[in-house]
Amino acid sequence: MLSQFTNSPIHRSYKFWPYIVILVGLLLSAFAGWFTNHHFEGKEQIRLKLISHEITVLVKTRMAGYEQVLRSGVGLFNASNNVTRDEWGRFVEEHKLNENFKGIQGFGYSEVVLPKNKQQHEERVKKEGFADYVIKPEGAREMYTAIIYLEPFDERNKRAFGYDMFSEKVRREAMTQAMQSGKAALSGKVTLVQENDKNIQAGFLMYLPVYKKGSKLDTPQERMSAIQGFIYAAFRANDLMAGIIGKMFSDIDFEIYDGNLASKENLLYNSDTERQYVKLYKEQNIIMNGRTWTLVYKTDSISAGENIYIVVLIPGLVLVLTFLLALLLKTLIKTEETALEIATKATEKLHTSEERLRFALEGAGDGLWDWNLKTNKVYFSKRWKEILGFSEDEIIDTFDAWKSRVHPEDLKQVKADIKAHIEGRSSIYINEHRVKCKDGSYKWVLTRGIVASRDVNGRPLRIVGSQSDISEQKYSRLKLEEYMLLVDKYVITSTTDLSGKITQASEAFCDISGYSKAELVGKNHRIIRHEDMPKTIYTELWKTIQAGNVWQGEIKNKHKDGSSYWTDATISPIRNEQGEIISYTAIRYDITDKKRIEELSVTDRLTQLYNRLKIDEIFAMKLASAGRYKTPLSVIIIDLDHFKLVNDTWGHQAGDDVLKEFAALIKSNVRETDIVGRWGGEEFLILSDTDLDSATQLSEKLREKVSAFKFSFAGHKTGSFGVSSYHAGDDEKSMMKRADEALYRAKENGRNRVEVEEY
Ligand code: GH3
Ligand code: MG
Ligand code: MG
Repeated sequence: MLSQFTNSPIHRSYKFWPYIVILVGLLLSAFAGWFTNHHFEGKEQIRLKLISHEITVLVKTRMAGYEQVLRSGVGLFNASNNVTRDEWGRFVEEHKLNENFKGIQGFGYSEVVLPKNKQQHEERVKKEGFADYVIKPEGAREMYTAIIYLEPFDERNKRAFGYDMFSEKVRREAMTQAMQSGKAALSGKVTLVQENDKNIQAGFLMYLPVYKKGSKLDTPQERMSAIQGFIYAAFRANDLMAGIIGKMFSDIDFEIYDGNLASKENLLYNSDTERQYVKLYKEQNIIMNGRTWTLVYKTDSISAGENIYIVVLIPGLVLVLTFLLALLLKTLIKTEETALEIATKATEKLHTSEERLRFALEGAGDGLWDWNLKTNKVYFSKRWKEILGFSEDEIIDTFDAWKSRVHPEDLKQVKADIKAHIEGRSSIYINEHRVKCKDGSYKWVLTRGIVASRDVNGRPLRIVGSQSDISEQKYSRLKLEEYMLLVDKYVITSTTDLSGKITQASEAFCDISGYSKAELVGKNHRIIRHEDMPKTIYTELWKTIQAGNVWQGEIKNKHKDGSSYWTDATISPIRNEQGEIISYTAIRYDITDKKRIEELSVTDRLTQLYNRLKIDEIFAMKLASAGRYKTPLSVIIIDLDHFKLVNDTWGHQAGDDVLKEFAALIKSNVRETDIVGRWGGEEFLILSDTDLDSATQLSEKLREKVSAFKFSFAGHKTGSFGVSSYHAGDDEKSMMKRADEALYRAKENGRNRVEVEEY
């Protein structure tokens, strides 16, 4: 699921988020910039509006003030028939122009002079002390105006003395307007004649007409006819505006243009040098004294003071935050990606290991189950169902469905084992039980499970496990157990440690030996040894098995009650993984019966001595040995004397008894290695691995023993002895012949005698 997610386009689009954030941030920043800018621009526009209003009011008020001063000048002329130069001087001085009306260059009176009066006028002024006085510029005109009073009458203003302002177009227009309207009129832009070369400023003039006293002044025509002169003020624009607004609005650029057009040639006043960059521009027309001025306000900064920083700061801050956010997002995505990558890898690993496990288990033929303890739902794998004979699409998906299939006899243990694991008492749930297949038959399964997840309180949520079909093993194990029981019961087995101490004994071993297991285990194996078995056999046995070989042979053992039994034993050394012998195991077969039959076939039933058959067999063996190894071999043949008499006197039974007693007497007086047998009737044979002398001595000893012995019925009896010994090339026949000949001689020579061969 996770791996599907990681490959989805949804996930991949995560990577674009930082860029989207940056984009949005940039837009936001731009908007913030625009908004802040707009906000401050709006504020600035309002400020500019206020400033322009204020400046307009200031300019208008000031100009109205000048007009008022000019009107009082007109008043002076109206009140007097003749205003002298001195009177004008005093009048201007009283108004303290320099203090109260800054920017005014001159305040004067220009007299209207008709051509016919021009000469008279010039002469009159010359008489007043100005010898050079002429109306300037020269030339004939319809009407002259001449500046005759101009205060302050300094060097600069003196240059305007006698100047005919009416001769110049701009001034004439204003003067004509003032003359016709009877009201103050402002001129357009001029360069004042007072201006020298230094610091030339734009200038303008304000005119008020002075009419001849008593004139009718109702129409423009009448007013033109009645014109006597003009009171006027000359302004240097820069000086005037400096006087009006001073340094009050230093952060804005303020310009005044004459007329409607803000063109360079119309510029009257500029508060500052040209700004590089104009942010806000406001144009405003004001009409004063019939003249239109265009006021222009410019500012290159959004606003004064820190506003500019805010405008930069806010979008800047947004931008910085954006980048930080983008960076954070990128880091988060990277972290998430890394986490996802790790999770994906881990999941893949898990998937792989789960797959491997599934593969291994299913491959090994094991079914899988996954039990949700909350819902009691169980997922059973295909193989799980197969074991029970169901197909994959048959629905078995609950714990109860599972439980109902468990053999009733096994259910209790199954539940107990699950409980033990859930409660943490066992590290794994493991149980062998029978489950009912689809066809109703039962199968043995080995099921294993382990808690795969727990809730926060540690309670198990899920148990996963496997189920293997162990029916075959189970049945073969049961069979094996059965066989083992049979083996234990019928096969005589025992195990000893290296010292021969019994560590294990089967039931059959116990039966044959007469001991219980408890009596056998821990004891030495010697406990069953029979004294009849030659010690040499055991020596050979131990030598063989200690060398790591298997010893096999027939052994006569002793029963707990003292009786004997025969076993054919195979004794094998058992090795550990390092190849060291750690114990010996013996498997035996009871051959007692076989041995009995064997004994019967070689034993004379009356005397229990070897019969003729066995004697012949042994004789042949000993002859072979004597021929090969030059070992000595002698034969003693014994015949009871006058035995016929015993039978005749005491009966056949008494004769048999004598034979039995005689056999026992001989047997008990020879060595273990001497072979004693019944040769026939009342004749006996001894095969002894000795030479002729030793055999003769033995015979003599036996003859004495017999003659001294008192038989039960017959009393004292004697025997005759014939002795022969082995000579190279002898066979049984030749040896027996010489022994028989010796015996014959013993009989001939009086019985109860020993005769040796004549060789
Ligand atoms: P001799 O001293 O010459 O040997 O005299 P003898 O009486 O022993 O003579 P002989 O050896 O010829 O006789 C043997 C007798 O032993 C004949 C037979 O009746 C008897 N006899 C042989 N076998 C048995 C047996 O198994 N039981 C009994 N009771 N008698 C036997
Ligand atoms: Mg005899
Ligand atoms: Mg005989």
